Amino acid sequence: MLIVMKKGSTREDLARVAGLVEGMGLTPHVLQGSAQTIVEVTGQTAPLDPGSFESLPGVARAVPAGGAFPLAARQSPAHETRIALGGRTIGGGGVFVMAGPCAVESEEQLLRTAHRVKEAGADALRGGAFKPRSSPYHFQGLGLEGLRILARAREETGLPIVTEAVGEASLELVAEHADVVQIGARNMRNYEMLKRAGRLKKPIFLKRGMSATLEDLLLSAEYVLNEGNDQVLLCERGIRTFSQHSRFTLDLSIVPALREATHLPVFVDPSHATGYRDRVAPMAAAAVAAGADGVMLEVHPAPESSLSDGRQALLPAQLADLVARLRDIAAIARHRTEAVR
Ligand code: PEP
Ligand code: MN
Repeated sequence: MLIVMKKGSTREDLARVAGLVEGMGLTPHVLQGSAQTIVEVTGQTAPLDPGSFESLPGVARAVPAGGAFPLAARQSPAHETRIALGGRTIGGGGVFVMAGPCAVESEEQLLRTAHRVKEAGADALRGGAFKPRSSPYHFQGLGLEGLRILARAREETGLPIVTEAVGEASLELVAEHADVVQIGARNMRNYEMLKRAGRLKKPIFLKRGMSATLEDLLLSAEYVLNEGNDQVLLCERGIRTFSQHSRFTLDLSIVPALREATHLPVFVDPSHATGYRDRVAPMAAAAVAAGADGVMLEVHPAPESSLSDGRQALLPAQLADLVARLRDIAAIARHRTEAVR
């Protein structure tokens, strides 16, 4: 931690800062420059909270030395986490496609969709068994029965399963059945759940909260990493802005920003971000061109009868067309690996 003193701060201010640092069992080193005084703190094993120093008189700002998210931070251009899933690799080039319905509605619906997802050339099957709905009156998912249906779809198609846990209670249950545990936008700030997810032995698919900054997202990832789970996938899924032409605003510029800031794979979900079927393919293409390692897409064989998010679901034939195009785009998007060099 570096504590930068204000111009005009007094000797008492400096002594107060040094005293606080020593009181924490750490060592303050005062660096007296011609224009500025900086206190370097050594001895800490975890990042300190800048807030505890920034509230002191005479302190301009406090900067964590290893950064606020030392485990999620990219350490070098070549530093990239790769995650093996279903015989494919996430990260390091190419595009990993997760596709499936918003929710598992029935065995017939899910198995039918799973086979179409497989035929389309996608790499993993998504589908919610537990659904975090804005209204308590809307379909909440089939729960455990949904997880069993997903496991059956994996048996039939060989596709790994990505499905969401909606709270601490469902976390272990979901982890038992899924290959990847999704933590959704609404739970991105559920820190107790993130800690528990960090003790699982499964990759965690962490979606950006709809009002979360890049730093908020990486700090949430840090919670998982800090418990020992180093398999975290990040996903941009749209944020809330004043725009009303789409369901959320897809913040695509977070893709290169994340690739620069972190070694973790970056996904984009254009389905929830746009909310409209016809906008999904263009934004998926843009995401891959911008450097995303993968996309998450909703698809339904009969969207008009879907129990949730039918308006944004691709038809299976559209998915097949899109997957092929995304592979082509990934092959020519060379800056995806060059951007951080
Ligand atoms: C989902 O992917 O099913 C979902 C609920 O997404 P989000 O958490 O991004 O709203
Ligand atoms: Mn959905």
